[in-house]
Amino acid sequence: MYIFKTKNELQAHLQSIRNTKETIGFVPTMGALHAGHLSLIAQSKSNCNLTICSIFVNPTQFNDPKDFENYPSTIDADISLLQQHACDILFLPSVSEMYPNGFQENKSYELGELESLWEGAHRPGHFQGVCQVVDKLLNLVQPHVLFLGEKDFQQVAVLKKMISQSTELRNIQVLTGKTIREKDGLAMSSRNMRLSPEERQQATAIFKGFKELEKQWKNGQINAEALTQPFSETLFQNNFHKIDYIACVNPDSLQAQETIQLPSVVIVAAFIGNVRLIDNFSLQ
Ligand code: AMP
Repeated sequence: MYIFKTKNELQAHLQSIRNTKETIGFVPTMGALHAGHLSLIAQSKSNCNLTICSIFVNPTQFNDPKDFENYPSTIDADISLLQQHACDILFLPSVSEMYPNGFQENKSYELGELESLWEGAHRPGHFQGVCQVVDKLLNLVQPHVLFLGEKDFQQVAVLKKMISQSTELRNIQVLTGKTIREKDGLAMSSRNMRLSPEERQQATAIFKGFKELEKQWKNGQINAEALTQPFSETLFQNNFHKIDYIACVNPDSLQAQETIQLPSVVIVAAFIGNVRLIDNFSLQ
């Protein structure tokens, strides 16, 4: 696997490859890699001739400076996992490489309602930061296919919108990968490393909440509030101390549904200890 730390090195390498008409798949990450990230690498490997992964903890997408400072970093383990999974190229830039002129001149993106709903409402500036870095990365890598995880449900919608609005990026295909979970249902996340053993155990309440909600819905309950209220109680009983949102939404518009109508996705964001976990579950 090639590891490039500068844009110039990466671009020089890609220039020679592009002429061979390889299909390039790109998996952007913030590192502390787990099986969720690796499933996207595998998806890229099976769809494309060349797979590029980036690891960059992007400061502009953190609305909470403590979250940024505490974001886990396991770079040696990440490199060896990517090698084991036959990733072709790792791009590992520094902050100054990605933002040579500082953060002042960053572009801003027209994201409409996506910015005021759910994650947008609770993490001001987050999606602007995500767009800033992914826009830079996509212009650099110019992949044919971008691989994103459904775990970050709203992020997929935001990035699809950003890509569709850009003349340079418009032709990039976006493919999504299913959320990979631990055996007990907890969605894999780099932030899970920051949970204490007790919190790690209690965090399974999210998946249990999804399953219980699904059961009640299958029993005929279609009132969203009647479904999400017990879910909130389950979380509070399991040491979650703040719930940003639990809602049933239409997956295309992301608008809340008062009564469940398929397609419907249950979305949740909640704090346990210092860690904010997000997850979603599609009702079927
Ligand atoms: P992150 O490193 O958290 O920014 O995530 C990088 C990519 O991996 C994003 O597209 C995420 O949606 C995706 N991802 C994160 N966790 C999971 C998971 N448990 N299953 C599948 N994809 C994931």
